[in-house]
Amino acid sequence: MTKGNINVSVENIFPLIKKFLYSDHEIFLRELISNATDATLKLKHLTSIGEAQLVYGNPKIEVKIDKENKTLHIIDQGLGMTAEEVEKYINQVAFSGAEEFLEKYKDSAKDSGIIGHFGLGFYSAFMVASEVEIITKSYKEAPAVRWVCDGSPEFSLEEVEKTERGTEIILHIAEDSTEFLEEFRIRELLTKYNKFMPVPIQFGTKTETLPLPEGAAEDAKPETVEVDNIINNPSPAWTKAPSELNEEDYKSFYHELYPMQFEEPLFNIHLNVDYPFNLTGILYFPKLGNNLNIEKDKIQLYQNQVFVTDEVKGIVPDFLMLLRGVIDSPDIPLNVSRSYLQADGAVKKISSYITKKVADKMVSLINTNREDYEQKWNDIKVVIEYGMISEDKFYEKSDKFALYPSTEGKSYLWEELMEKIKINQTDKDGNTVILYATNKDEQHAYIQTALDKGYEVLLLDSPIVPHLIQKLETTKEKIQFARVDADHINNLIKKDEPIIAKLTDTEKETLKKEVETAVNDSKFTVQLEDLDSQDTPFMITQPEFMRRMKDMQATGGGGMFGMGAFPEMYNLVVNSNSELASEILKTENSEEKNAKIAYALDLAKLSQNLLKGKELTDFIAKSFSKLK
Ligand code: ADP
Ligand code: MG
Repeated sequence: MTKGNINVSVENIFPLIKKFLYSDHEIFLRELISNATDATLKLKHLTSIGEAQLVYGNPKIEVKIDKENKTLHIIDQGLGMTAEEVEKYINQVAFSGAEEFLEKYKDSAKDSGIIGHFGLGFYSAFMVASEVEIITKSYKEAPAVRWVCDGSPEFSLEEVEKTERGTEIILHIAEDSTEFLEEFRIRELLTKYNKFMPVPIQFGTKTETLPLPEGAAEDAKPETVEVDNIINNPSPAWTKAPSELNEEDYKSFYHELYPMQFEEPLFNIHLNVDYPFNLTGILYFPKLGNNLNIEKDKIQLYQNQVFVTDEVKGIVPDFLMLLRGVIDSPDIPLNVSRSYLQADGAVKKISSYITKKVADKMVSLINTNREDYEQKWNDIKVVIEYGMISEDKFYEKSDKFALYPSTEGKSYLWEELMEKIKINQTDKDGNTVILYATNKDEQHAYIQTALDKGYEVLLLDSPIVPHLIQKLETTKEKIQFARVDADHINNLIKKDEPIIAKLTDTEKETLKKEVETAVNDSKFTVQLEDLDSQDTPFMITQPEFMRRMKDMQATGGGGMFGMGAFPEMYNLVVNSNSELASEILKTENSEEKNAKIAYALDLAKLSQNLLKGKELTDFIAKSFSKLK
C-alpha cells in the first residue's frame, strides 16, 4: 500500500471549498456521472480505433444507495485507471483543478454567483462525503487499485481484487448530507441532470409484466420480471438529424422534456451548427397569447447531453426566453457564471445565430402555409414583437414575417398594409396614418366610425405594442400611428366634399364657453369641430402622445420609471354640425341647457368606458326616469 500527500499548497482546502460551494452541493452527482460517461465513451473510442482489444458491449452506469453503510456508489464499465493513472489524474489533475479554482476565486468566492455553477469535477465529491473511495480496474493489463481519501490532503493507494473492468466511486456520505442517501433525492437529481446523458444509467430495478404467450389459458396469470430501471434516454431528439424526425417525434420529445406540460407546442425550430461553433438543440414555440409568465418550463442548457442550467439569460436573446426547448453546446462551459457568459465571444455568436435561425423559420412558416401562420399569430406575436423591438437584426427581417391584423380579421404584411392604406389615409404633413385599436369592445364606437369612413383599422393588442409603434415610427419613412380614439384621426385628409358649417364662428365660441362652464372639469379640453357625420354630437378623444406615454410607462418603457404618473387628459369634441349643438345653443333655460350638456357628456364618457361608479349609477337612474 502507498500512502502519500496530495500535492496542494493550500492547507485544508477541503473545508474551504465545502463552505464556498454551499448552494450547489448537489452537482457532485452530475460530475461523477459525467466522469463515468467520459470513461465509457473513451473506451468506446479506443475500441473503435482498435487500440483496445475487447468487446465494448452495452455498458451502463449504475447508481446505488447502501443505506446501512451510508454509502452512495457510482459504478461504470469504462476504461478504468491503473495505479499510475490514479496518481496522475486524481492526485494531480483533479486536485490541481480544485486548487486553481480556489486560487482564482479566493476573493470573489463569496459572491455566490460564480460559485453557483462551478463544476469542480471529481473533487466535488468531498462536498457531500467524509471519505471517498475509488476502486478501479483499467482495460489495460494491470492490477485493480483502491484509492481512499478522507478529505485531508492525505491518501492511500493499494492493490485490490476486482475482475471487471471499470471504476466504482464510493462516497461515504457525511453527517450533514444524509439527504443523498434518500432514494427520492437521488432520483430527483438523476432526472434533473442526467435525463439525456449518452450512456444508460441504472438506478434500482423495476417490475415488468411480460405479455401472455399466444394460446395461453384465459385465467393464466402474466409473468413478471425484475429489470434494470434505466432513468435516462441516451439518444434524445436533438442529437438526431432533422431528417430522421417527424412531427410526432418532436412533439413527444417536448413532453419528455416537460412532463407536466399538457398543451402541444405550436412549432419547433431544430438548431444544428458545427461551424464556427458547435451547437444543437430544438426550440419550441408554446401557445403564449399575451401571457408573459416565463418562470415555468424554461429553455434548458446542456453540455454534451449533461444538464447545466435553465437560466439561459445571456446565451439566448431575451425575447426568445419565452420559448421552450433545449440547447446543447460543448462550447458553453459547465461553469457558467453571468459575468463570464456575457463576455464570452462564443456565447455572443450563439445568441445571434439563434436569432437568425428563428427569423428564417418564421419566413419559411409564412411562405409554406400563410393561413396556418395567421391562425397562430395570436400566440406567437408577443415573441415576434418583443424580438422586433429588442434585436435590430431580427427587426430588419421582420417585414417578411410580422403580421398586422385588422379588426375585421384580415392580416397584412407591412408592404401589403402600405399598399392598402397609402392613398386613403394620409394627413396634412404627408404622413401615412395607421389607425389601430387595442381593444375591440372598448373602442367599438370609434372603430365603427373609422370603418364607416372607409379606413382600415388594425387590432394591435399585445402589451408591448406602444414600444413597437415607437420603433416603427422612428425607422419607417413618414409613418404615423393613431389609435382610433385619438385626436390624430381628425388630421386625416377628408376625401369627401367640404362640409358647410352649421354654426357661425361666434356661435361656436359661445357654445364652447357654455360647454366648458357646464362640464367644469380640468381633465377635459373642449373642442368644437365640424365633423362630417351627424351621428356623434359629443365625442371623447385622447391625445395620442399622452396616452402612449402612459401605456409605455405601464409596460416598463425605457427610462420611464420614476417619472411619476402621467395625468389623465381628454378632449371633449363637440360636433358643431350636429343637431344637438344647435339645440343646446337654442336652449334658453340654463338649468335645462346644463342638463343636456351633462347628459351628452355622460353618453360620450360611456362610449369611452369612462363612466364608472356613482356617475354610472346616477346616469342609469336619470335615464330610467326619462322613460317614465
Ligand atoms: P475532468 O473530468 O474535467 O477531466 P475531473 O476532476 O472530473 O476532471 O476528473 C479528473 C480525471 O480523473 C479525469 O480526467 C479522468 O482522467 C479521471 N477520472 C475521473 N473519474 C473517472 C472514471 N470514473 N473512470 C476513469 N477515469 C476517471
Ligand atoms: Mg469530470
